[in-house]
Amino acid sequence: MGRIIAVANQKGGVGKTTTAINLSSCLAEKGKKVLTIDIDPQGNTSSGLGVDKNNIENTVYELMIGNASIQECIITNIFENLSIIASNVNLAGAEIELIGIEEKEYILKKKVNEIVMDYDYIIIDCPPSLNTLTVNAMTTANTVLVPIQCEYYALEGLSQLIHTINLVRNRLNPNLEIEGVVFTMYDARTNLSLQVVENVKENLEQRIYKSIIPRNVRLAEAPSHGLPINIYDPKSTGADGYRDLADEVIGREEE
Ligand code: ADP
Ligand code: MG
Repeated sequence: MGRIIAVANQKGGVGKTTTAINLSSCLAEKGKKVLTIDIDPQGNTSSGLGVDKNNIENTVYELMIGNASIQECIITNIFENLSIIASNVNLAGAEIELIGIEEKEYILKKKVNEIVMDYDYIIIDCPPSLNTLTVNAMTTANTVLVPIQCEYYALEGLSQLIHTINLVRNRLNPNLEIEGVVFTMYDARTNLSLQVVENVKENLEQRIYKSIIPRNVRLAEAPSHGLPINIYDPKSTGADGYRDLADEVIGREEE
């Protein structure tokens, strides 16, 4: 039975998409069957994994509004063990089209239920807001993984995110858990990164991953080649960081 992880933080630019792409790919590299679902209308996870997002017939938009089956939307094995449901700007209108639809918080869950047995992990990349799409992801997921950028305002907005997760747990998905917080863009050359990590550890009750993702220019370059980091530059510090994270995610499940 596949474990479903939503990568969420309503702050933009904290590393959600980078984490969704590279955690997915590193899990796949370790032999796990992975489905990545891009539910951000920006479609950066799709293009970052080499999908020509504007020339895809069936995206998560067609899935959500009921114009395509989930089988029709999955692009299988874009890399070994890694499949994707892509997204593009069409999804930006879905929020409005879903108004008044019955049980609109469960649309994604009902579809994903049909294929959850086919994968070891399903990773959902969320948009930078707490909207219907993000709520759909949290209703579908077993856990929420929260990337936190190592910068001064790291904790800003986090209480709102945790409040949202609690609301979803109380009303829509009683089994939802916080998978944990992962620090991204850690810069070992500055004291600030270290201070942020220490501060968050002191102030946050959530589980925190031991793996810390370093700031690594190769991680920023890889999407323009349509490649995940473990394929674009397998020996980079960024690839090591996401491989460690994948190991930890697998280890958590075995606990
Ligand atoms: P989000 O999905 O939360 O908006 P992204 O993953 O798109 O964030 O990251 C924002 C920007 O930072 C992107 O340009 C990305 O390439 C870059 N980035 C993300 N993580 C790293 C990292 N560890 N090192 C260097 N650049 C990074
Ligand atoms: Mg993103």
